[in-house]
Parts: sequence; C-alpha cells; structure tokens
Amino acid sequence: MKEFVRTIKDYPIKGIQFRDITTLLQRADLFHDLIDEMTKPWENKNIDAIVSIEARGFIMAGAIAYKLNTAFIPMRKPDKLPADTFKVKFDLEYGSTEMHLHKDALDNHQNILIIDDLLATGGTAVAAVKLINMFENKNIVGAGFIINLPELKGEEILNKMDIKIHSLMEF
Ligand code: AMP
Repeated sequence: MKEFVRTIKDYPIKGIQFRDITTLLQRADLFHDLIDEMTKPWENKNIDAIVSIEARGFIMAGAIAYKLNTAFIPMRKPDKLPADTFKVKFDLEYGSTEMHLHKDALDNHQNILIIDDLLATGGTAVAAVKLINMFENKNIVGAGFIINLPELKGEEILNKMDIKIHSLMEF
C-alpha cells in the first residue's frame, strides 16, 4: 500500500511533505485491504463507538464502524455540528484549529476507538482524547491511522497518555 501513497513536497506550506492518500483510495482492491487491515486489531475489543476526525478520518471510519458494528461519531471543525458541543483548541503541524463533539454524542457508548488518516505531532489525536475525556466514564481503547510519522512524536505523546496506537505504515 505504501507505494500508492503520493508525496507532495511543500504542500500546503514550505517544508511539509504532504502524504496524499487519494492515490491509495482510488484503487478498489487496496481500499478494501486498507479497511480490513485497519479493522483487524480492534476486533473482539467490545468497541461500541468510533470517534472519527474530520475530514479524511471519515473515509475509513464509516467502513470500519460498519465492520465492527459500532456507532460512528464525527469530530468536526467549528460551525459544522448543529447541536450543543464540547470543544478543544489545538495546534497542527501547520496552523491551529478547534474540534467539536456533540454533547450527547457518546450517550450509551463506553469503549471508544479514534480513527484518522495520519498521525504527525499528535495534536489532532490529543484533541480527540481531551474531547472524549470531557464525557464521564469513557474508555479509549486505542487510535488507528493509515500513516504514522514517528519523527513528529505523536505516537510517543499518545503512548504517554496510555493510548494504544495502530498504523499500517510509517514515513
Ligand atoms: P497532527 O495533529 O500533527 O498529528 O496532524 C494530523 C492531522 O493533520 C491529520 O488529520 C492529517 O490529515 C493532517 N496532516 C498532518 N501532517 C500531514 C502530512 N504530512 N501529510 C498529510 N496530512 C497531514
């Protein structure tokens, strides 16, 4: 799968090597394998909801939620979710933003899996963890990604928070 991830130099700003997964997703056979491989580590773990990170996380999370028979919970950028939300501000590898979850999103869910396309500095995933921890009695089973960029230390930060990581490849 790794050879089908396209690297774009200096996108969206100078110095960033952007890992473009669209070239992987456009292959039907590889998209199928990708979902199977991202699902496997979380089978039989009693996960009942996937918190998915806007926007590229949604592509995989819907399919994984279907396979694991779990709920799909969107974590979204400001002004996207229509009802009351919890929110967290955080920095990205490039820029800063805010993420929201509906305040009733995790009613009746306890064991949560986080899904996104790529783990870099961990800012986005940590925001997801902080948001989930604003709810009472939630257990974060882990976080799954297609790509991990270990040099940017997101994995280390998440491991220190006791969050288990799975990724399919590293750059
Ligand atoms: P971070 O919060 O630093 O772990 O960044 C992860 C988020 O930003 C993910 O949602 C990615 O989609 C996006 N992202 C960060 N760095 C890159 C990169 N080098 N290539 C593609 N996407 C990236």
